[in-house]
Amino acid sequence: MTFPTERTAVLTGAASARGIGRATADRLARDGWSIAILDIDGAAAEEAAADIAQRHGVQTVGVAADVSDQASVDAAITAVEASAVPPIVALVNLAGISSPTEFMQETKEAWDRVFAVNMTGTFLVTQRALHGMIERKLGRVVSISSISAQRGGGTYSKVAYSASKAGIIGFTRALAREMGEHNITVNAVSPGPVDTDIMGGTLTDERKQDMSKDILMGRVGTVDDIAALICFLVGPDAGYITAATYDINGGLQIS
Ligand code: NAD
Repeated sequence: MTFPTERTAVLTGAASARGIGRATADRLARDGWSIAILDIDGAAAEEAAADIAQRHGVQTVGVAADVSDQASVDAAITAVEASAVPPIVALVNLAGISSPTEFMQETKEAWDRVFAVNMTGTFLVTQRALHGMIERKLGRVVSISSISAQRGGGTYSKVAYSASKAGIIGFTRALAREMGEHNITVNAVSPGPVDTDIMGGTLTDERKQDMSKDILMGRVGTVDDIAALICFLVGPDAGYITAATYDINGGLQIS
């Protein structure tokens, strides 16, 4: 099957200006993708969509959505499908929250919220977006795990975050089994530390240096490092890659 030239990528959590999602949306638009941004910050999602349309000349839409809320997700994807953007070919699940709380201080409420956004949100958006992909017999799903899942924290967030991001890896593999027959690939990307707002604010040079000590490449990641990998995985050349989890952490996984 040829890869359509008119195609939309839906990105959740791509409204934050310094975030991985925003950088990915920009890069995908540069490659000719139409873009739909779903974010809990609806105003920022609309602004990001308008800015990307203006700079890259592609169709875009920005919609407010809380990924942890099924009705909100359903309304948002319905709005994307009813908008002027072409059919959804790719979904990138980036919406996420951190949890820097140590385990003995963790509360059930905070634990539930981390899982509701990071894990249940990924389930809800993916299931809703898959309807159209299955119908059209083409799709790419990429969800963002974290080295925190594989290494057990060690960067900023703690147990709840690590556990929710470990869930993304099992989710990806099990879903890939069911989606192969529909010509839909399902993969995860597992970044090491990247300087974005999720790290509790901009990383100071001191924090960056400290985090870089065990990183073979000697620096923390950039949003563009991660965006490049995601763009490849949703693109036309990645149709035989599925059920994979890509480490992208400058070598931190072996140190
Ligand atoms: P970020 O804070 O810039 O982006 C997170 C985005 O998710 C924000 O735009 C936020 O508004 C949105 N969001 C939060 N709750 C939401 C909800 N309920 N519904 C919809 N949108 C919601 O941080 P980022 O680093 O760009 O994070 C993107 C993804 O990458 C996250 O899943 C994060 O866990 C993951 N990640 C980040 C790092 C890192 O070091 N920055 C490392 C590994 C994985």
